[in-house]
Amino acid sequence: MTDILRDGDGINAGERPRRGKRSAIFTSTPDTDAPTLMCPRCDTLLTYKETVISGVKPIERWDYFYCPACGPYVYRERTRTLRPAT
Ligand SMILES: [Zn+2]
Repeated sequence: MTDILRDGDGINAGERPRRGKRSAIFTSTPDTDAPTLMCPRCDTLLTYKETVISGVKPIERWDYFYCPACGPYVYRERTRTLRPAT
């Protein structure tokens, strides 16, 4: 019996190519407008700052807001949750 070296036999299937940078897109003019949100603490209209879209699947999007009284907030598009960005 002779061991035969074969290519494409799934030997390297567990090897994950670590390619592709974790690039994120920063924009203040996203394709879809950021939602209008009120501050959950003081009911003030939050000021929209910018949107971050991560290019990694699943694509996620975060909208950054600012409350003059309470500070920065981040809104996670996928889960529709607004939380302090501290
Ligand atoms: Zn506030």
